[in-house]
Amino acid sequence: MIELIDLSSFESKSKCCGCRACESICPVGAISMHEDMEGFVYPHVNMQICIDCDLCEKVCPFINLETNQQSKYAEACYSKDAVIRNNASSGGVFELLARDIIADNGVVFGAAFDKQLTLKHMDVDNLLDLNKLCKSKYIQSDTNGTFAKVKEFLLEDKKVMFVGTPCQVSGLKNYLGKPFDHLLTVDFICHGVPSDKMFKSYKEAEEKIRGAKMVSFSFRVKDGKVKHINGYSYTMNKDGKLKEYKGMFFDNPFYFGFKKSLILRSSCYSCLYCTPERVSDITLADFWGIEDYLSHIDFNKGVSMVLVNSNKGQFAMNKLRESIDSYQFGIDVAIKCNHCLSSPTELPKNREKLMQDYQNMPFNEFAKRHIMSKKMMIYKLYYALPITIRKIVMKKFKGIGYV
Ligand SMILES: Cc1cc2nc3c(=O)[nH]c(=O)nc-3n(C[C@H](O)[C@H](O)[C@H](O)COP(=O)(O)OP(=O)(O)OC[C@H]3O[C@@H](n4cnc5c(N)ncnc54)[C@H](O)[C@@H]3O)c2cc1C
Ligand code: SF4
Ligand code: SF4
Ligand code: SF4
Repeated sequence: MIELIDLSSFESKSKCCGCRACESICPVGAISMHEDMEGFVYPHVNMQICIDCDLCEKVCPFINLETNQQSKYAEACYSKDAVIRNNASSGGVFELLARDIIADNGVVFGAAFDKQLTLKHMDVDNLLDLNKLCKSKYIQSDTNGTFAKVKEFLLEDKKVMFVGTPCQVSGLKNYLGKPFDHLLTVDFICHGVPSDKMFKSYKEAEEKIRGAKMVSFSFRVKDGKVKHINGYSYTMNKDGKLKEYKGMFFDNPFYFGFKKSLILRSSCYSCLYCTPERVSDITLADFWGIEDYLSHIDFNKGVSMVLVNSNKGQFAMNKLRESIDSYQFGIDVAIKCNHCLSSPTELPKNREKLMQDYQNMPFNEFAKRHIMSKKMMIYKLYYALPITIRKIVMKKFKGIGYV
């Protein structure tokens, strides 16, 4: 049986990523998920029902981790279609892969917001709904019921593409228990997830300030005032009138808290999946620093890093060749450009105090104290510079932020 988790212990919680594989596999329904004070869910075992079958332990991705062969190279690529590229977090490879699956009458699973802006894994089988899955949402997605649904489609011989965090992909594969030729798994290089509860705290604080209801939120908006891949936008509804607000990651307490890795799940700071050996068929990411290698490329339009980890993944990528511009690099370059390919996110020194204050303070006060940087003015001035000057400054003062 899986270890019982103490919801008040960071150490104990670090061993669970909340994928729900254990809950999904339990044959007697002995496992239920419970939320801790930070808003992350963890399994609780009802010992009175448990029959000691050990299935929950067998499917747990923090106990059983099986990876594919290491990718031989990393691709820097992006969709040739400017609309697809602009609508994606990075280069739009996810949408191209998904379109191919849908064209083959398949189903794509990914993360989408529902009407309450709760992030859930959903399945899509048509191009009209595909947009809901596109783009990164920097919140833990709820996989409740998803693994069983994936299995149902696979048993009906439908092609399935499942996209998720590496730990979710691993949990799904363990849950399925055997390989399926018509399942394509896609993960991303992942530095961690904040909780839905924290996102809702931010949302409610914003609603209070604006006196309106937030009806949509987008991370990775590229067409803001500063042409940068980490813009955001949200729409407010006030008495039926919609108004859009746009900004940059550093002026948004939730986005900035995520980027600075302050508000992530405990397990993300000791993640087992930050390695070049991947659990999925294809790994997607941002190709940070690509402009140091290919100066003609504009990273802020979105450039994906793609690792191909299996023959199935290779086959899927080969089908996209006509639709992408692509350049090959060694895995050493990929590791240099993306630290979560070699080590998990560093645990912030004051995380315990930060989470205590989150529980005891109004969100804006907490954010002001722990997230919003005193260097805000520097960020503002930096991003007011033209991009060419920004690059020179970035080279001179490495570490100021993200170009
Ligand atoms: C929580 C999180 C952390 C990440 N950390 C890094 C990082 O440290 N370094 C890096 O280079 N890249 C990271 N990425 C990946 C990056 O943001 C892009 O998703 C990736 O480059 C693919 O871009 P794309 O344009 O091909 O696809 P996109 O249009 O971005 O599609 C992304 C796919 O991921 C799914 N997805 C979105 N949000 C979630 C979520 N919360 N949980 C599960 N699935 C989701 C979507 O449904 C879609 O299928 C992270 C992504 C997420 C969601
Ligand atoms: S050991 Fe078996 S019955 Fe008990 S909680 Fe785990 S899966 Fe359920
Ligand atoms: S990591 Fe997943 S399978 Fe393991 S205990 Fe946590 S929720 Fe269950
Ligand atoms: S950092 Fe690791 S544990 Fe956290 S969501 Fe990503 S894959 Fe899962």
